[in-house]
Amino acid sequence: MTNYDSFFIGGKWVAATGSDTIEVISPSTEEVIGSVPDATTADIDKAVAAAREAFDLGPWPRMAPSERADIMAAISGAITARMDEFATLISTENGAPYNFSIMGQVFAATAVLDYFTGLTREFPFEETRQGMMGPTLVRHEGVGVAAGIIPWNVPLFIVMLKMAPALASGSTIVLKPAPETPLDANLLADIIAEAGVPAGVVNIVAAGREVGEHLVRHPDIDKVSFTGSTVAGRKIGAICGEQLKRCTLELGGKSAAIICDDTDLSTVIPGLLPAAIMNNGQACVAQTRILASRNRYAEVRDALAEAVAAYKVGDPLDPETECGPLVAERQRDRVEGYIAAGIAEGASLVVGGGRPAGLDKGWYVEPTLFADVDNSMTIAQEEIFGPVIALIPFDTEDDAVAIANDSDYGLSGSVWTDDIEKGIDIARKVRTGTYTVNGFGMDFGSPFGGFKSSGVGRELGPEGLGAFLEDKTINLPGDYQPPS
Ligand code: NAD
Repeated sequence: MTNYDSFFIGGKWVAATGSDTIEVISPSTEEVIGSVPDATTADIDKAVAAAREAFDLGPWPRMAPSERADIMAAISGAITARMDEFATLISTENGAPYNFSIMGQVFAATAVLDYFTGLTREFPFEETRQGMMGPTLVRHEGVGVAAGIIPWNVPLFIVMLKMAPALASGSTIVLKPAPETPLDANLLADIIAEAGVPAGVVNIVAAGREVGEHLVRHPDIDKVSFTGSTVAGRKIGAICGEQLKRCTLELGGKSAAIICDDTDLSTVIPGLLPAAIMNNGQACVAQTRILASRNRYAEVRDALAEAVAAYKVGDPLDPETECGPLVAERQRDRVEGYIAAGIAEGASLVVGGGRPAGLDKGWYVEPTLFADVDNSMTIAQEEIFGPVIALIPFDTEDDAVAIANDSDYGLSGSVWTDDIEKGIDIARKVRTGTYTVNGFGMDFGSPFGGFKSSGVGRELGPEGLGAFLEDKTINLPGDYQPPS
């Protein structure tokens, strides 16, 4: 049990101003595993002031990019050295299966940091161009003081989607972890202090929504990078729009996997199922709508049913576990509400739908498969954020594309076919930010983000760094010669 009484601000642990605490509860044991102070607006003000000073007066934005990259590499090495500690802690905080925590929470986080470290070494932060009126010096400067607002589902990975490009750009950042998962962020704070990151460059303050909104509104914040629900994203985007703040919104999804008739289900199902119910179904990119042609519908349904029924549910710390508990009781209530809606609207419950036998403690839901789902049903339109799959029939591949696109969301998706060119053609037609032919993935060197209600802006790739940069043009005299 770790109980904190302070926040990581200005490179040191600073006592909280208020007396309220956030208790972190294990979703598998329902026991308190630690606590952090619940930030007040005064704590946020201190963190923003430290980040502002570090940006306006400190060394970080003024260092050679290679020096920043060396410090980023040190952070990555230190996280890797404590990989098991991070994975165990995150699985205990949010119920993610340990193996997913190793790969999807910790290794993925270091891979993102390593990508941005490499980019920092080679990116042209300042370049001389021959413009239309004469020479120009084009600078790509750090955006300033950023706020990174983090959800609970993949906390360290999403911290890195904000922190790594912020560090690369020479910006400073205030991270606000979700109240469900503040402990792993505090572990990261220790590493940041030891890695030689100058004081105030990274500040970590856990808080709830209202105090989080104070951070968003703060006049000294130049950019907000948010991951979470579409409801909260709309609100944060509205505040940023009003204040003309730079803003990246990474929101929900309801992604469709299209299974073409020409595929071998014995390879498709083992590849697709983990993408459908990864992280206990609590992933914005989860492929939760599975589209199968009527020709093979019964075959796909039966193969999926067998695989879903065999999914191993249990203690997230057991390396054999494939599906752990949901993050909180309210999340289980929400998922059970969607299962009830699926039944009420006439979908066929094929597997699951209840609570797993023998797991009396913890917020578990059985991996669930609905068949005969019409795309207009609630379970096909709304993001459930639980291990619930909707199997939807289609007549033709054009019909499948239309169903995939008939969604408010546009985050991810996949097509499964032996004809790769056909798969690429389908990928071109589906309106989502990321798509995979015969698999599921996020490429950290390529842009990631949402079409439609799945978000605004991109993370990862050079575009992800661009989201933390301001471009400046310095017009130079016509006879200017750069120093040799
Ligand atoms: P949420 O959007 O309410 O919270 C995410 C983060 O934003 C948390 O740190 C929260 O404290 C903060 N936050 C919320 N409202 C805010 C505001 N107005 N100003 C500043 N900060 C604010 O998400 P949740 O309640 O944790 O989960 C609910 C749903 O969100 C999920 O069921 C799922 O649909 C979605 N979700 C999506 C992702 C994703 O990766 N896209 C991640 C987590 C949750």
